[in-house]
Amino acid sequence: MTVLGLGPMGRALAGAFLDAGLRVTVWNRTPGRDAELIARGAVSAPSPEEAVAASGLTVLCVVNYDAGDAIVRREAVTAALKGRTLANLTADTPGRARDAAAWAAEHGIGYLDGAIMTPTTTIGTPAAVFLHSGPEELYQEHQAVLAALGGSHTHLGADIGRAASYDLALLDIFWTAMAGYAHALAMARAEGVTARELAPFAQGIAAILPPIFEESAREVDEGTYSGEGNPITSAASSMAHIVHASEEHGIDASVMRAAEGLARRAIGLGHGGDGFLRITELLSPR
Ligand code: NDP
Repeated sequence: MTVLGLGPMGRALAGAFLDAGLRVTVWNRTPGRDAELIARGAVSAPSPEEAVAASGLTVLCVVNYDAGDAIVRREAVTAALKGRTLANLTADTPGRARDAAAWAAEHGIGYLDGAIMTPTTTIGTPAAVFLHSGPEELYQEHQAVLAALGGSHTHLGADIGRAASYDLALLDIFWTAMAGYAHALAMARAEGVTARELAPFAQGIAAILPPIFEESAREVDEGTYSGEGNPITSAASSMAHIVHASEEHGIDASVMRAAEGLARRAIGLGHGGDGFLRITELLSPR
C-alpha cells in the first residue's frame, strides 16, 4: 500500500501500516521526511506516480485538498491511479470531497473519503477514531487494510461528503470550546486564578456536556427545545455576567457576545422558556 504525504499524520499512518506487516511505499513533496520509515522497512518512491503505481490502495494525507490536488491531479499521477483506489484522509469540506469524487469517477479511480478524529499518537492504537464515506463495496474491499491503522472505523454511507460533514461538525464543537476555554483562562487570570487552579473544575464543567449531547439529540431532531430547569432567559443572564466581567478587565468578550446575542434573539422571538439549543433553529431554520 502507498502513503502520499508525510507530515506528522502521514508518518503515523505509514508507521501503523508497517507495524501491521504491510508492504508500504511512501512519497512526500519535501524529500527526507521518510528516513525513519525507510529504516523501518518502507520503500521510498522517487515520484508520486511511481508511489501510486506500486499499490492497489493509496492513502493521501496532506494539509488540505488544494495540496492533495496539487499531487494527484498531475497528469502522470492521475493516469497511474486509474483502476486503483485513492483513500483521501486529508481534512477539508464536504464540497471538496464531492468535487474530488467527481474527478476520480471521471478518471476511472476508486475513491473513498475519510476523516481522522484523533491525534497522531493514537494511530495504530485502540484509541484512534476514523470516519469513512464512499461506495460500500469499495470500502469493504479495503476495510481490512484500513483496519491496520487501529482504533474504530465507521463507514458513514455512500454520500462521499459525509465523513467531512461529521469532521467539521465535531471540530466545530472542539474549536468553539477551545475558544471559550482560552477566554475563561484570560478572565480567571485577570482575577488571580491560575490555569492549574481552574483545571479540575474545568474538567467538571466539560463532563456536563456528554450527557447533554445524548439527552438533547431527540429534542433537536424533533425541533422541541424544553427549557425545563434551565430556560434560555437564565442562560442569557449568566452570559451577560461573563461579558460584563470580561470587559471590565479589558478582555475581548466577542465569542461570548456572539452566543449571548443569539440567545437574546431567540428570547425576542418568544422562545425565552425554551432551552439554549433553540438557537439551532435561528442558525439553521428548517
Ligand atoms: P499538515 O496538516 O501540516 O500537513 C503536512 C503535509 O502536507 C506534508 O506532507 C506536506 O508536505 C503536505 N503539503 C502541504 N502543502 C502541500 C502542497 N502544496 N503540495 C504537496 N504537499 C503539501 O500535517 P499533518 O500530517 O498533521 O496533517 C495531515 C492531515 O491530517 C490534515 O488534513 C490534518 O487536518 C489531518 N489530521 C491531523 C491530525 C494531527 O494530529 N496532526 C489529527 C487529525 C487529522 P511537505 O512536507 O512537503 O511540506
